[in-house]
Amino acid sequence: MDSSEIEREAQRVGREILTRLKRERHSLFEKEWWQGQVLRWCMENESFKVAFFRFIDVLPNLKSSGDVVRLFREYFDRPGINTPPLLSLGMKTLIPGSPAVPLAAKAIRANVEMMARSFIAGRDLDTARPHLEKLNRSGAAWSVSMLGEVAVSEEESEAYFRRYLDAIEQLPGFSTDDLSSAISGDRFGTIPRANLAVKLSSLYSQTDPLDWEGSLSVLTERLVRLLILARERGAHIHLDMEHYAIKGLILEAFSRAMNRPELSGFRDAGIVIQAYLRDSEEDLERILAWAAKHRCGITVRLVRGAYWDYESVTHRQNGWTVPVYLVKGETDANYERLADRLLAASDTVRAAFGTHNVRSLASVIATARSRGISERDFEIQMLFGMAGPLQDALTGMGFRVRIYTPVGELITGMAYLVRRLLENTSNESFLRSYFVEGQSPESVLAAPAAAPLREPKIESFQNEPPLDFRVDRVRSQFSDAVASVRGQLGRDYPLWIAGEAVRTDDWIVSINPAHPSEVVGRSASAGTQEADRAIAAAEAAVMEWSRQPAGERAGILRRAAESLRTRRMELSAWEVFEVGKTWREADRDVNEAIDFLRYYADEIERKAPSRRLGDYPGERNLYSYVPIGIGVVIAPWNFPLAIPAGMVSAALAAGNAVLFKPSELSPVMGYHLVKAFTEAGLPEGVLAYLPGRGEIVGDYLVRHPAIGYITFTGSREVGLGIIERAARPAEGQRHVKRVVAEMGGKNAIIVDETADLDLAVPGVVQSAVGFQGQKCSACSRAIVLESVYDAFLGRLIGALKSLRIGPPEDPATELGPVIDAAAQRRLRTAIEEGAREGRLILQVTEVPPEGFYVGPAVIADLAPECRIAREELFGPVVAVLRAKNLDEAIRIANNTDYALTGGLYSRSPAAIERVSREMTAGNLYINRGITGALVGRQPFGGYRLSGVGSKAGGPDYLLQFMIPKVVTENTMRRGFDSAD
Ligand code: NAD
Repeated sequence: MDSSEIEREAQRVGREILTRLKRERHSLFEKEWWQGQVLRWCMENESFKVAFFRFIDVLPNLKSSGDVVRLFREYFDRPGINTPPLLSLGMKTLIPGSPAVPLAAKAIRANVEMMARSFIAGRDLDTARPHLEKLNRSGAAWSVSMLGEVAVSEEESEAYFRRYLDAIEQLPGFSTDDLSSAISGDRFGTIPRANLAVKLSSLYSQTDPLDWEGSLSVLTERLVRLLILARERGAHIHLDMEHYAIKGLILEAFSRAMNRPELSGFRDAGIVIQAYLRDSEEDLERILAWAAKHRCGITVRLVRGAYWDYESVTHRQNGWTVPVYLVKGETDANYERLADRLLAASDTVRAAFGTHNVRSLASVIATARSRGISERDFEIQMLFGMAGPLQDALTGMGFRVRIYTPVGELITGMAYLVRRLLENTSNESFLRSYFVEGQSPESVLAAPAAAPLREPKIESFQNEPPLDFRVDRVRSQFSDAVASVRGQLGRDYPLWIAGEAVRTDDWIVSINPAHPSEVVGRSASAGTQEADRAIAAAEAAVMEWSRQPAGERAGILRRAAESLRTRRMELSAWEVFEVGKTWREADRDVNEAIDFLRYYADEIERKAPSRRLGDYPGERNLYSYVPIGIGVVIAPWNFPLAIPAGMVSAALAAGNAVLFKPSELSPVMGYHLVKAFTEAGLPEGVLAYLPGRGEIVGDYLVRHPAIGYITFTGSREVGLGIIERAARPAEGQRHVKRVVAEMGGKNAIIVDETADLDLAVPGVVQSAVGFQGQKCSACSRAIVLESVYDAFLGRLIGALKSLRIGPPEDPATELGPVIDAAAQRRLRTAIEEGAREGRLILQVTEVPPEGFYVGPAVIADLAPECRIAREELFGPVVAVLRAKNLDEAIRIANNTDYALTGGLYSRSPAAIERVSREMTAGNLYINRGITGALVGRQPFGGYRLSGVGSKAGGPDYLLQFMIPKVVTENTMRRGFDSAD
């Protein structure tokens, strides 16, 4: 058959399927049924649809009727939600305390449960069994998928693993005698009745493409065990495809497992290809090449892909290329292309096609016929609860149909339910087009065609995309950078003053916190003499610099950004050694530095032109900014490139000279920053590199009368001292010093009774122990509402225990050392003290013997007043506090001297609104981690004793380095107004 004949056959097959379908029979959308009604409302009304999906997502977590009704009202009784009259009417009667509340809650639960049960066959295998047997009797096969929570710890992964093992033992026993012969065999032989879908990511909680080999070795081992048992018991294992982030790992683990000699010749295993991925063809070819070599007949299931929103959103957020086709027509066309390719290989693989789209089915069937492949030699797969009449039509036509059948508890099933509902109510759903909108056969059977869509351009400031560690080349280049930097350790770094390298008698030794015997570098240590020299050079250079057009200064910032970008991996590697950042954390810091330089370059170009104020005749008022002059930047070690890069570049952009004093603990990173500026062509004398002791050179500069501004980031004690000293004018000083001081925090995350713990637990873990908890934004208090306290705590501990602790140069490491011996001692003492004040329920003590390691610790049941719950610790220690209700949680959260970051995990719109208003935090994050603010998107900074100043990476930041000036000119000359 040529392509036009295949198309004619596809049209014929499509018509036959449609004739067999009776439009009115799809129960999914039947009007009289509650579900059909709700789905129709969702399709007609986008705001209702969003509210409805969000409500059912949280519903299973709600324990009391009062909560069910409260949340119901919060979601639906709001301006902007077009609630159908039927529902609004009911809502009016639901006043808290009314006897109608328990009845209403019961009815709501029952209806949603019924809806969920139409897509989920049972809460466990026993309750699902009758459905599976019924499927067999109706001539269809099944594949069981065990729904579950996200595995956040190894305990949870082990539980999954055991569930899979049990299922493999149990499922082969689910047999009925009247199994249709159509589903029991094909050209490769017998097809096992028991078929289990496995989510590989659930088998290893620490799966991360960055730790490629480590993740693969655990995943492969566990998968092999499942496959061996499946072989023994006569079951089929099908690996589901998951998010793009781990697609490569899934494919690789599958092929490594199947290459094992003990699985040689085993065919009852399968993998999935998602046609919405642009690189799906490559993956399919790889699998087919493997299958051609082994010729055992593994199964390949072709699907469209279920995470379109997730993939497009997360990739855009990171600035990465979106891996999915943007237009559904492109996916459909790719589906048909890949189907053809898969069928062409049907002598080496079993082909399976997962779709409810009649056009796709017709095309697959026509292609199979054109290749002489019989109905029994490929499989059509559909989802439980969605197949209905389609299943009957296709089994009636003699095809092998398998129903993918989820089994699990309601809470864990909701994410699955929402995905199904989204699919059914989407404008692009076949079921919706045909059954609800009644589109014509010509329209639903038309061959896919779509012009590719260009990615929408983001107009605002675009952040530097983080490294994509899923890519082999990126991992190997990073590893090369680490090796190369290791070869450069131990060098000397002189000061840099007026374009000259200056050596001193005193030296600062920077050591690797993971291997304290390893010297990262030695920097000269500036004293008062060198400070004076730098001030003199700055005085000579600053006027000329400040007169440069803003565009010139911006150009230098951009060139410096480019120089950092060119060396980004090398610079990250330096951070790995100097401060103990893991690969991903180091990359983020370098990225942020680049962002700051580019952002402030843009900002100065926006701010520099003078603005005319007012439009009164006879006068011209010009508002402009002039730089302050010479100032000092005093930086911490914890973001050793980004924080100084932001402070230095803002001051320079505004036309000031800068004396830069990096932290004693990260002088080498400070050197690299200054190097980028000199390479970018910054004039001599404008920027001095002055590493030195804070109490000596830092203090001297703070007091010096030539200093006009001080920009400090660091601890509260030092910051407050600087503010105090800077306020006192020195002899001969003619100005008030301007101080920007960003200081510490004691940041809290509130977890309420509606929180999604699958998000909250990893969010708290990442925020609390990312970079060993040494971020000013880190979460050091989790304030958890009573009703979820135990569940949260249990999962938090499991997750923290599962983290891999080790030297940060190893890509497998999730938790490295703290910065120095003093920090290690301080944290150990704090943990001991915490154990007296509260209940020390976790302290990981298994850490590498060498290096300044402190294992994660959790102290629970603390009273809000105790020291551990109020003072900044700066380490991987989490205080967990119990709150009776949201009022109390907010009170505890606000009961500190600080107001830097804060967070809330909640699915209650009212709680989100309230916490956003009442929680004292400069940066508040809802339903995500509280660290990792991005330049231009989440300008960063706190208030109270967390700091004074406007937010870094925000539109007001540069103003702190400039003095506003107004020039008013009388434009009248001899009676006429000469204003232009
Ligand atoms: P730190 O206060 O010990 O040191 C910061 C800088 O101040 C260093 O360069 C140090 O040499 C210098 N210094 C010390 N004594 C001085 C003195 N008497 N006069 C002048 N300078 C002096 O802080 P750190 O340990 O480097 O950093 C950790 C602290 O920084 C934490 O409290 C953290 O919360 C805070 N931090 C805040 C932010 C923020 O944006 N709010 C960001 C990062 C870090």
